[in-house]
Formats: sequence, structure tokens, C-alpha cells
Amino acid sequence: MNETLNIPVPATPRSITQSAMRKLRRMLDSVRRVSIVCHMSPDGDALGSSLALAHVLTAMGKSVRVVTPDMPPRNLMFLPGASSIIITSQIPDVAERTLAQAELVFCLDFNDLRRIDRLGRYVEASSARRITIDHHLDFNMPGDLAISDPSSSSTCALLYHVLAAAGLEELIDTDAATCLYTGMMTDTGNFSYNSNSPDLYLIIARLLTRGIDKDEIYRRAWNESTESRIRLCGYALSEKMALHRNHRAAVITLSLDELKERGYSRGDTESLVNQPLAILGIEYSIFLREDRTDFVKVSMRSVGSFPVNRLCAEHFGGGGHLNAAGGEFHGSLTDCMAVVESIMPQYDSLLATQPDN
Ligand code: 5GP
Ligand code: MN
Repeated sequence: MNETLNIPVPATPRSITQSAMRKLRRMLDSVRRVSIVCHMSPDGDALGSSLALAHVLTAMGKSVRVVTPDMPPRNLMFLPGASSIIITSQIPDVAERTLAQAELVFCLDFNDLRRIDRLGRYVEASSARRITIDHHLDFNMPGDLAISDPSSSSTCALLYHVLAAAGLEELIDTDAATCLYTGMMTDTGNFSYNSNSPDLYLIIARLLTRGIDKDEIYRRAWNESTESRIRLCGYALSEKMALHRNHRAAVITLSLDELKERGYSRGDTESLVNQPLAILGIEYSIFLREDRTDFVKVSMRSVGSFPVNRLCAEHFGGGGHLNAAGGEFHGSLTDCMAVVESIMPQYDSLLATQPDN
């Protein structure tokens, strides 16, 4: 703790007001049973923020449950507390009962109840008070308190600020700090984008004084892989990546059969969509994964100012951030590819460098 005192206190973002923090403390003081929920296909930020908050609230004497819509990827199961989460797709009745019994529900890292599948119905049905902390655009979460800050690079960084502003930083132990750091790291691609705020590094310095091992976190979250994952990604890049240089785009597709043949398991294609952005002259990358014969998960990434969230919102019922977005396609992979190819020309005018076609 003394070490922490030597590190400047990061400035509290304007999205976190004193009156909101007073309300948060009042709401916390009046409850015992708390549920924390995060979005479908939880990533490091979703699970990290949920578990970090769970550790802090447990230290306050609350009875806390983290409920996810579905199974987190294997590479996040090292997070302290991950083994006790309630996974709705596996035990829906337990998830439903937990939400029904909660007095307070935290919604972390999502902006719309539609992002949490059937868990959204359980949250809506619950009479618990609701607090959302999130950094996505297009915030659409009714509730008793909302801290929404799209300028924050991760929900974990925002949550750190909330905890500090609410006077709870002392309760961030090594486990909570590990979870917070993981989300800050994964949502910025290991501090390679969205990561120029000096405050980010003050937070990290303070978390390091709690005894986190950031090198180990990097290794566990990013750099541990199964053989099949490495081979699947290698196959996707070598055989299944099409470059549309006239639109400065790369498109990777993986069919259900290809995934099955190569022993795909959840999380194996995480970050694959980023890889084509390393190719000179490519401004955005699209990854289409056929999850069912009639359903394709769409993921997009871009560099610079090309708004992939617009493509996802306008054609795939999704959204996200300027440079990282996603959506869904209900239909076959072939039909989805046809849509992608037909819309690419419509967005040429938004490219930083105009194609010379
Ligand atoms: P990913 O490509 O890693 O699945 O998602 C990247 C980002 O896109 C997420 O952080 C989220 O903001 C957004 N996103 C992904 N899928 C969807 C979706 O189906 N709907 C919406 N609204 N946003 C999504
Ligand atoms: Mn996030």
C-alpha cells in the first residue's frame, strides 16, 4: 500500500461524478446479494471486469455471483475466480434463480440487453436494482445507475476509476488487480491500440504494487495455445484469406466443416481477424465464422478512421467500436460472403487512401 502512495493518482474521468459515486455506495450499503453479468462470448475485458468487481465486493462482505451467458474461452480460465462463475448456457435454471434472488445486478462491458442472450430476460425479470459500467458506443441500458464512457479503452480501466472514486481502491487485492490488468491488456491488444492515455500507465503502476505478474498474465492470456489453434489460424491465413486490394480489405472465412475438421474450440479464432491488418495497404479486415449452417458470426477490425462499427450496424445487426466491431448473419456462409462483397464498394469513400481501381 505504501508503494502505491508514491504513484500519482490517475485523474477521474468526467463520466464518473461524485453524486454517482455516492449513489453507488448507498446502493451497495443496502444490499447483500449481488450478481454480476457480462456479454456473450466473454473476452478478457468482460470477464476481467466481472471477476475484479466480484473480488472487491466479496471483500466488502457481499455474497457475489458472476453469471456469464456462455462459456468463456479456455485462455481466460486462469483468471482468479473463473472456476466459480455460473454459465447460463450450461445451467440456465441456476442462472435464472441467481438473478431472481439478487438484490443488485451489475452489468459490465455491454451496452444492450440483447448482447447477453437469454440472460437478458433473467436480468429484466429480476426486481434487483441495476448498475451498468460500460465503454461501448450507443448505450442502451435502462437501470438505476449507468456509468458509460466510450472514451475509456476498456471497462476494466473504467472500473478501476469507479472503485478509486468510490473509495474502494484499498480492496483491490492481487486477484482483483490481475483481473483488471487482463481486461486493460486484452482490449488494447497488449497496449498496441487505444492506449495513449498516460493515466492507463498510472493505473498499471498502481496495480503492479498489488503484486500482479504482468508478464505471466500476458503469457496466460495471449501466448498459450493448443496445437490445433495454431494450425487452424495458420490454415485460415494461408488458405482462407482473400485480399480485396481495390477496397483495401481482407476477408477470412471458415466454414463449419473446416472448423470441425481442425478441432475448433471456443476462443481458437480470437484475434485472428487482427492479423491481416499487418499487411501494407489493408485498412480493414473481416472474419466470417460459420457457427451453424444458418448462422455466421461476423467480426471486423480496422486501422485509422475506417468505421467498421458502421458496416456491422448497417448490414449485420451489430455494432461496436470504430476499429473493432461485430455482428451476425442469419443465413449461409456463401450468402454472407455475397453480402460482404456487395457492400464493400459502398464504403470506399471512407478509406484513408482511395483505391486506384
Ligand atoms: P469480436 O470481433 O471480438 O467478437 O467483437 C469486437 C467488438 O465488436 C466487441 O467488443 C463488441 O463491441 C462488438 N460486437 C461484436 N459482436 C457484436 C454483435 O453481435 N453486436 C454488437 N452490437 N456488437 C458486437
Ligand atoms: Mn470491453
